[in-house]
Amino acid sequence: MPDTATQINQLSIPDYFPLHIGGEPRDATGGARFVVENPATGEAICEMAEGDASDVDAAVKAAHAASKPWGANSGAERADILNRIAALLTERLDDFIAVEVAQTGRPIREMRAQLARLPEWYTYFAAVARTHESNVHPFGGPYLNYSRRMPLGVVGLVTPWNHPLLILTKKLAPALAAGNAVVVKPSEVAPITPMMLAALMEEAGLPPGVCNMVTGMGPIAGAALSTHEGIAKLDLTGGTETGRRVAALAGERLTQFAGELGGKAPVIVFDDVLDSSAAAATLFASFIAAGQTCVQGARLLVQNTVREKVVDMLVERTQSLVVGDPTQFETQIGPMVSKRQLDVTMKYVEIGKNEGATLAAGGERLTGGIYDTGYYHAPTVFTDVTNDMRIAQEEIFGPVVCVLGFDTEEEAIALANGTEFGLAASIWTKDITRAHRVSQSIEAGIVWINDHHRIDPSSPWGGFKASGIGKENGIVCYEGYTKLQSVVVNLSDDRFDWFEDSSDK
Ligand code: NAD
Repeated sequence: MPDTATQINQLSIPDYFPLHIGGEPRDATGGARFVVENPATGEAICEMAEGDASDVDAAVKAAHAASKPWGANSGAERADILNRIAALLTERLDDFIAVEVAQTGRPIREMRAQLARLPEWYTYFAAVARTHESNVHPFGGPYLNYSRRMPLGVVGLVTPWNHPLLILTKKLAPALAAGNAVVVKPSEVAPITPMMLAALMEEAGLPPGVCNMVTGMGPIAGAALSTHEGIAKLDLTGGTETGRRVAALAGERLTQFAGELGGKAPVIVFDDVLDSSAAAATLFASFIAAGQTCVQGARLLVQNTVREKVVDMLVERTQSLVVGDPTQFETQIGPMVSKRQLDVTMKYVEIGKNEGATLAAGGERLTGGIYDTGYYHAPTVFTDVTNDMRIAQEEIFGPVVCVLGFDTEEEAIALANGTEFGLAASIWTKDITRAHRVSQSIEAGIVWINDHHRIDPSSPWGGFKASGIGKENGIVCYEGYTKLQSVVVNLSDDRFDWFEDSSDK
């Protein structure tokens, strides 16, 4: 542990972050702490309080106390605060970027691009909050029927480490816009920026208690939040197994559940795409974040007529990617987030080799110099992969891409759909008719045509099949954080007596 505050980008990171409950700092009940590590150096950045069930309970109580006045605000009043959060975030973005790089190892170039868009989530959902409070329906007859959207109350948010701020923001902005108070359990691997965000939001005017943060371990703090009877909805982003476990717990109490879970996205390349574009597409889809994204292009499905040329180019470019210090702008691939994630990747490389796939690039932990202090894995390409192999079916969550060939459109679709996942896919072709036709047959919640990874606060995001339940982004997400009350008004002055009136109306 550092004795003094760590300096990141001239920002002084405190050596300890307590829990954040009811707007107040608070040690974990048992006094426990855990260490957050910089995966590029293996050094400790700071300690966090390690909350347990009693801390979660205190956070839920604080959220309940704050949720009524917050929810009673008009959408416009809540929008004003969300807009202030966006403005303050824009001002402090460089600090958030630097800490995000330090705790995840994501290259600074990626995090600048990603976080530059973060304030948009708050401004977008501010606009939704202003315009989506109620609706009038054509009920027919002498009736007025309107429905009003009401906050759910207190919502639990459980988030992962791979995009700590973006994923939290995708949940926070709509949940707050809809008038809920929240209890957040951020990933134990990268909880620093979520804590910084909670403080910033209160500085921007969010009332204390509306956003509470309980850092801690998934099976303890996360599970306590998932089973707490004071939570109206549990929204989790994480692995599919975690999602299944948490959904089952939530189901016991009939607590609403939304889960953004794992994936094994195909990058489908038809032979009318230039070889160089196909290779560039795969590099972008597969190796951003060292492959640690849910929508990673984990499988390159390439038409056999161009397969060899595309693979040659892909291998050549993969071998020349700059892997190194994530704080340097020229770095293209950073370290894996943790030793655990590195070990999982190395395990799958062994599995792939044993299954008979051909290792065409990478395939090992990088060593020597800077690599010895962090968790660096070479970007890896497997060829001669068949769809029944574990490396083609299971989420690795590392810089590994599996290449499979296809002859026909039908074969490409069958391969694309041939896993338990259904989060995302990209289709690369110049034939616009084929692109749309194929997209209709792809069992995935997000399909890009001649692109990958692109995201917008207005564009629904979420998986089919084992990749999740529910949607982030867009009005559909805002609605998921509300309950809808339908009010039917009889506008007639006539006396109504069903039992005296014998007509059949
Ligand atoms: P994870 O499932 O290990 O953890 C996610 C969160 O759940 C963490 O905060 C963790 O502490 C918590 N958790 C773990 N066990 C729990 C339990 N028993 N009860 C309650 N909470 C628990 O996932 P991760 O390693 O942090 O993230 C990687 C995974 O997230 C990948 O599978 C990836 O595909 C998925 N992911 C999905 C999306 C999406 O949009 N679909 C986005 C990012 C990541």
